[in-house]
This record gives sequence, structure tokens and C-alpha cells, in this order.
Amino acid sequence: MLYLGSRTVTYSPAYTLVPTYECFNRCSYCNFRDDPGTSPWMTLLQAEAVLKPLHSQGVCEILILSGEVHPQSSRRAGWFQRIYDLCELALDLGFLPHTNAGILSYAEMALLKKVNVSMGLMLEQLTPKLLDTVHKHAPSKLPEVRLQQLEWAGELQIPFTTGLLLGIGETQQDCWESLEAISQIHQRWGHIQEVILQPHSPGSQQISNAPAFDVYQLPEVIASSREILPSDITIQIPPNLVTDASWLLACLDAGARDLGGISPKDEVNPDYPHPDYQKLSEILEPAGWELVPRLPVYPKYDNWLSQELQTVVRAIAQTVNPMVQCYQGHERQTRR
Ligand code: SF4
Repeated sequence: MLYLGSRTVTYSPAYTLVPTYECFNRCSYCNFRDDPGTSPWMTLLQAEAVLKPLHSQGVCEILILSGEVHPQSSRRAGWFQRIYDLCELALDLGFLPHTNAGILSYAEMALLKKVNVSMGLMLEQLTPKLLDTVHKHAPSKLPEVRLQQLEWAGELQIPFTTGLLLGIGETQQDCWESLEAISQIHQRWGHIQEVILQPHSPGSQQISNAPAFDVYQLPEVIASSREILPSDITIQIPPNLVTDASWLLACLDAGARDLGGISPKDEVNPDYPHPDYQKLSEILEPAGWELVPRLPVYPKYDNWLSQELQTVVRAIAQTVNPMVQCYQGHERQTRR
């Protein structure tokens, strides 16, 4: 089905900071984690050295993406504080933080709201049968716990990104039910900015040899998702995982409108480098699509942010010219 929306496709000029790769979960498809205690935590000095040159590269969003320290661990408070401090540092240096650090307590989420313009957590899939397979050793992947995270984010008025991981053992019906659940939560709180549809793409570090999701099915999944999700939720696809240019265009025709954070390295799928702006434009523009940068928070959520955060958002939106266009462009899009 052809989805007739705007011909604007957005992406976020981003850089990913990883406070730590250590994670107490062991999802069988993971290409990110290290065992607890084996991955040194990023220091603020290291982060500062990485962040400072990024302004000249047009980066606006700092995605803080972390493995999880167990909630009962004596190291949990230090882990959380490091994430908080990295967000604060990124803000102080004039960037917009967006944290995805897995499952958080309500209090942790409320604290991170102060130093993030938006946050994220993949719902992945709701079906409990994955707890016997890919999530057998991943206590954080309890479906009800992840749904609760989405609820809390809504209650706390945190602009939020979530998404599905496709091809990890779910059926199509499971997929539609996961999307329905996202829709229902969004209808209560109105806080979901984007839903990512991420095809499982095997990498060199994962323990399972499960096959990749067939990306040629992705346009069909996008079209169905577009019908299930409320129209003010943008569908995002990772362009590095859809390497066939004609199929990337088919994904847009089906209703995807965002390509997510484009960063030098996709930390979740390190075997699949991101195409740069130039390469993406060469694919999109001849087909009549305009590729524009966006901020990690949509303008309609401006008054959910503290005055301090609003000041940083406005400064970035106004100093980077294309951002202003994008900022306004999304406003038009979300008001349709
Ligand atoms: S996918 Fe996320 S939660 Fe699962 S092991 Fe990897 S880092 Fe941990």
C-alpha cells in the first residue's frame, strides 16, 4: 500500500556515547554487551574529549546508550550517577541528550527527565514465548515491565521513542499486538514520538545464529503499522539495516518518515555502518524525498521540558539553520 504523506524524511545528526557495555542480561541476538565487571565505565574526561569536536560536525543529539547494571547491585547507584553526569555534561556542552539505558525505576526515570529532552526504550515484542527463547537469560525483557516503562514515561511527560525488534521469533499477530499496546499507551499519554521498526540483523558478536529478518517484508510491516499506530507517531527505520536502495524507498512509500540518529557507528548493530547524509540524499532526492535533520525532541513537547532544557533546545534550533526548517517542518507534520 502507498502511504500518501509529506515527502519529508527526517534524521537526527547524532553521536552515541556508551557509559558501559556491561549488561546483566544476555539476549541471544545481542551484539553490544560485555559481562558485568569487564567493561570499564566511560569517564567524564573521556566523554568531554569525544564531545567537544562534535559541534563542528553538526551533531545535535547525544544518544546515551548503556548496558544495564542489575537493580539490586551495589554498583547500580554509581552506574546511574555516571549516566546522569554524562547527560549533564552533554547539555553543558550545548548538545541535546536522549538516554536509553534499559529498565529504570520510577525515581531514576524522573531524575533523568531533568537532563534529557527525550528518552527511549524498545518494547521489542510483547509475546511471553520469547522468555523461553531469545530472552531466556534476560530478566529485563519481561513484557509487563517494559510496558510499565512506557506508562511511566507517559505519566512523567517524557517525550519517548520505542519500537519493535522484528524477526526474533514472533508471529505477525504478535507484532500487531505489540503495536496495539503502544497505541493504547500513547492514547493515554500522547508521549510517543517515534516507533522504530528494527529488522533483526545478525552480527559477529551474537551468541545465536538465528536468521535475519527478511527486509523485503519490511514495507508490508510498515504499511500495517501505519494503520495501527496513531497518525502523530512517526515510523522510524534504520537505513543501515535496509541496504537495498530501492527497498529503502519502498519503506518510505509504505509510511516510514524518519531514519533515526545517524551516527558514525551503530552501537547496537556494529557490523552495519550507517550511510552518511550524502549517500542517503543521493538515494532519496532523485525519488522526490527531502532529507532534513531534526532535533531529538519534537516541538509539540516543548512545554513538557524544564525552562533550562527549553533554553538549550531553542538555542540549538536557532543557531543551526537547517534545524529551524526541520523544527518547523515537523510542527506542520504533527499538526496534520
Ligand atoms: S540487547 Fe540490551 S538488554 Fe539485551 S543483552 Fe544486549 S545490551 Fe543487554
